[in-house]
Amino acid sequence: MLSSLVSALWLAVAGPGDTPATSGPGGATDPDAPWIRYRLGRGESIEDLAVRYGVTGDEIIAANNGAHEFSKGDLVRLQPRRFSPPLASRTVKSSKRRTWAEVAARYDVEVDELRRWNKRFGRRKGVPEGATLTVWFRSGVTSFALSTPPELPEFEPVPGGYSVGKPHRGRIEHAVQLPESDLYTIRFNRLAWGSSFAVRNIQRALAGFRRESGFMGSIFIGAMSQKSGRRLRPHRSHQSGRDIDVRLPAMPHVVGYKLDRTEVDWHAAWMLVDAFVRTDAVQVIFLERKLFARLRSAGLRMGATDTRLAAVMGHVRHSKGHTSHIHVRFDCAAEATQCDQQD
Ligand SMILES: [Zn+2]
Repeated sequence: MLSSLVSALWLAVAGPGDTPATSGPGGATDPDAPWIRYRLGRGESIEDLAVRYGVTGDEIIAANNGAHEFSKGDLVRLQPRRFSPPLASRTVKSSKRRTWAEVAARYDVEVDELRRWNKRFGRRKGVPEGATLTVWFRSGVTSFALSTPPELPEFEPVPGGYSVGKPHRGRIEHAVQLPESDLYTIRFNRLAWGSSFAVRNIQRALAGFRRESGFMGSIFIGAMSQKSGRRLRPHRSHQSGRDIDVRLPAMPHVVGYKLDRTEVDWHAAWMLVDAFVRTDAVQVIFLERKLFARLRSAGLRMGATDTRLAAVMGHVRHSKGHTSHIHVRFDCAAEATQCDQQD
């Protein structure tokens, strides 16, 4: 079902004839592609880096003055052809005695891997009750190439939906409803109204995000505005069709809407925030300050340049309670002359 979703997305987003851009080792390196310095972790080899970044071992050796031997903590210089995010670890507790296969299935990992990560219990027949295990998760972001992806199609929602007044005291004229789509899941249709400008840019951002990340998990759209706009309890803003709550992308094993902070797929979250900022239509994105570092380091690990990091993080502002979702506020459309005026 997921693979059919993703091929449908590719058709919808990239258009027939386009295939996901992947380039394996040996292809030409883009001379403008950024160089990175990767600090080698425990048990990581040059071969691991070669696979992850789509380069050859010889290229890595050449880029490091001919060095062949690397060990933990060494900085390895390389020019990636593609990125795939590293694994992230998490500790989980087994509330009762389980078989290795049960635990592996639950977190969607291999039994052998799970035993290797948990040498303390690895030779036992099963996972003892109360055992604390380390599990490494793959991000839902699949590897992606650095080459420029094809242009997105233009989405054309009904024009004429305008924001009037302030996000905290306003309304919408001729509101446009965000249509159902494979790109996202709308939680409340009656709260999925916005300005034409916001709706068009939500679609552009999410199409761009899906195309570039290959992320197949759900993207939940929470509250936007009511059809008329105006006060929407318990929110303060969300009144003029420019505000939208989007749940952060979850690690692949998470099912349903509820999301705990440790279950966020930060690599996908970085790409999601980046996709919103790239619409050039976003005023601000709210998130709890204590999570800024996670977003930022995910961006760094995925090869974002300093300029890009600054551009994206420059849009992110602290707002309390935004730990499992971001709140995106769009700009006023040029033609919405009463937007942000006192209503
Ligand atoms: Zn909100």
